[in-house]
Amino acid sequence: MSGEEDLYKVLGLERNASGDEIRRAYKDLSRIHHPDKGGNEEIFKKVNRANEILSDPEKRQMYDLTGNTQEGGGGGVGHPFGGMPFGFGPGGFHMNVDIGDLFGNMFGGGRQGGPRRKVKKPIGPNKTHELPLNLHDFYHGKKISINLNRQVFCDICHGDGCMNWKTCDGCKGSGYTESMIQMGPGMMAINRGPCSTCHSEGRLRGTSCTGCESKGLVNQQKTVEVEVKPGASINDCFTCKGMCSDDVEYEKPGDLVFRFVAADEELDVEREGNNLRARFTISLKDALLGCQRVIQSHPGQTNLNVDIPQGIQSCETIRVKGMGMPGGDLLVMITVIANEAEKKALESHKAILQSIFI
Ligand SMILES: [Zn+2]
Ligand SMILES: [Zn+2]
Repeated sequence: MSGEEDLYKVLGLERNASGDEIRRAYKDLSRIHHPDKGGNEEIFKKVNRANEILSDPEKRQMYDLTGNTQEGGGGGVGHPFGGMPFGFGPGGFHMNVDIGDLFGNMFGGGRQGGPRRKVKKPIGPNKTHELPLNLHDFYHGKKISINLNRQVFCDICHGDGCMNWKTCDGCKGSGYTESMIQMGPGMMAINRGPCSTCHSEGRLRGTSCTGCESKGLVNQQKTVEVEVKPGASINDCFTCKGMCSDDVEYEKPGDLVFRFVAADEELDVEREGNNLRARFTISLKDALLGCQRVIQSHPGQTNLNVDIPQGIQSCETIRVKGMGMPGGDLLVMITVIANEAEKKALESHKAILQSIFI
């Protein structure tokens, strides 16, 4: 179908000629037909072409099976046998059927079982760690040095785990193996499957790398500085770009993300967004006369005095501007409860109270 002359005839050989015989025939004929030495250029080209195919075991096998040369077929992008499903080769009638195509993914992916291809790998997934911070750190901000124990590609073998690669003998580097199946009288099909020796890689590891004991990865100690900005919110994150471990499955390692969470601590003030909230229960007397209370664990000022004005109502909230987290206020909620002594006093001094609260 390619219109080419029988390549064996061009070299004057039988179909079962050995590699040596091909080499010798080519050497003789190319000398005889060399145009510089008065030979016929057309014949010289044919001899070269025949040698190119027959001296390459893979191309020769393909030619023997199909009567076609790998480059000679039209259409069928990427198909080693060209676009035509049938062909009349020198060996008779052949049917070029990729069994992988007929039976879907029977061989673990049909065409994908072919040679190793440069497939764009994804970026590795991010990893998130919770970083507990106390209120003081959230308020003032902080820089925290964190020692990472990560795995990176070995410098010597760049992650291969070996110093060199050798072509797989099982598939001669193609990543797949082929065998002929008799489909019927004079009809042959090509059974194509992934090479089990190299797992379709087409290559095998050569000399082991001593730098990484063939693992491809080595341990690396790395210190990163995580910055907490003053007033950072709970669940804010700090990202260390590409700081996860290297992995052959991924183009680049993912990001290491530190998410800020509130540490467990006993405080008399709590955070509500940018505000801080404190709660006090005071006596009736303190409510009527006014008083002072102290917030011990305010992150901006230890032992912060809060003035509670005379006549405060129960459940009333005092707002102290600018005394919350950065950009927020301090909210002090007051509960007024008369104690036992005050309750007794109220009863025994009813007349006086009546005279006051007319
Ligand atoms: Zn290595
Ligand atoms: Zn192989």
